[in-house]
Amino acid sequence: MKPINFETIIGLETHVQLRTESKLFCRCANQVEDAEPNTSICPVCMGHPGTLPVPNEIAIGYAVRAALAMHCTISATTRFDRKSYFYPDLPKGYQISQYADPVGTDGHLLVAIGGKKHRIRIERLHLEEDSAKLVHTADGSSTLVDYNRAGTPLVEIVTKPDIPDPKTARLFLQELRLVMRYIGISDADMEKGHLRCDANISLRPIPEDFDRAKELLGLDGNVNTLFPKTEIKNLNSFRSVERALNYEIRRQTELWHSSKPPLNATTRGWDEKKGVSVEHREKEHAHDYRYFPEPDIPPFDISQHWVLKVRDEMVELPEDKRQRFENQYGMNLADASVVVEDKTVADFFEAVVSELRAWLVALEEVSGTEQEIWEKHKTKLVKLVVGWMTSRLFTFLNEHEISITDSKVTPENFAELITLIHQRRVNSTNAQVILEKMFLTGNDPSDILESDDLGQIEGDGIEKVVGTVVNTNPLIVEQYKAGKVGVLQFLIGKVMKETKGKADPEAIREMLMYRLK
Ligand code: ZN
Ligand code: MN
Repeated sequence: MKPINFETIIGLETHVQLRTESKLFCRCANQVEDAEPNTSICPVCMGHPGTLPVPNEIAIGYAVRAALAMHCTISATTRFDRKSYFYPDLPKGYQISQYADPVGTDGHLLVAIGGKKHRIRIERLHLEEDSAKLVHTADGSSTLVDYNRAGTPLVEIVTKPDIPDPKTARLFLQELRLVMRYIGISDADMEKGHLRCDANISLRPIPEDFDRAKELLGLDGNVNTLFPKTEIKNLNSFRSVERALNYEIRRQTELWHSSKPPLNATTRGWDEKKGVSVEHREKEHAHDYRYFPEPDIPPFDISQHWVLKVRDEMVELPEDKRQRFENQYGMNLADASVVVEDKTVADFFEAVVSELRAWLVALEEVSGTEQEIWEKHKTKLVKLVVGWMTSRLFTFLNEHEISITDSKVTPENFAELITLIHQRRVNSTNAQVILEKMFLTGNDPSDILESDDLGQIEGDGIEKVVGTVVNTNPLIVEQYKAGKVGVLQFLIGKVMKETKGKADPEAIREMLMYRLK
């Protein structure tokens, strides 16, 4: 009999650590992961009886900003709730979170997969405090508690079960990280735990096989039923998210194939070293937490006026920037994505392009309005800029561990270099030499070109050298004419050497081939 096929249903819950100065309900310094343990604590975040939490307005503003960036509806009135559970990292015995009225609901995030945009719906976005951190000693004999992290503001972002496969889950998280960085509310560094993800996953027979599976396994429900899920907790790298989900698909597929689909929702942990997930416990239900309104903080309004102000101050989001780059600069999605991946890189790119327009118009041989000249050359020039930025400039930046904003290469000078290349005043080998000097000294590319005599030889200049090389290598020329075309490379090399690398190899090839026809 034909085996039953399954579809994967994934939803993500992501915690994002906010980079506020102070914690969510007290004045202790926030983001102190490098500080000595238990040095950024006070009676409030230690949960001493009789203390009162005071909400951090900046953190609430950040949550509103995040919710708007995820296209959520902002709740006009919201409040905090207590989520009760006991754990050594939770000194109060409850976490102050939001249950009934999250800051944002019903949003979405677009994820590009193979040129197609996939819309992942966001169910809710709420604010909550982080727990303390448990540190297990190396010998396994004891567990220590560092309360520095207790009370750190987090936003939790919950998707609908809209994610069809592990790769899309990874891409969603990468886009989420980028958005959080763009809007400046978090460093969103997964390695430092600023971004932590719980992944929910279940399988379901595909609609075509559903009736057959129903009969075979005695299932209840219909093609839209969600079956008991597995929640994989605390995934802290993009790689482990993808690996853990792939592992779960294999594990659950086996269960279904052996007629034992999961009966209850469970919580599992991911063992990155062994590459397996391990069952922790049966999943809690909302009622297990006994949520109730936080009595120490009254419900509060998020005024429409404030929301509009946050919206006005919002930066251009990565998705919009990519779209604009495609439209405005004639870039393809791949190039636009590379440039938009870092906001400072995108800013540098746009500064270069704007300088480039000015250079282009200043060139004598072109005529027309600035717009006309630009439209005619933009696709080619932008390709040149992206290529030289991502392959050459990035190499120097990475080698020297310098960010683009700290680099000595200014957008003005970079645009000038691109102009020199575009005008064929320098070939690509020497342009690389110039860029390295610009990188090291911050000098102007035209000055380096002149002082180091790196300008390109053209036309008659190359022609003369080609003539000499042909005349002084009769044997090679004979071989070429006898059909051994590979020796052409040797002649090109000779000419390159004679011209001290200042001629364009392609021009040399053409001249040689023409002369030896
Ligand atoms: Zn505190
Ligand atoms: Mn949470």
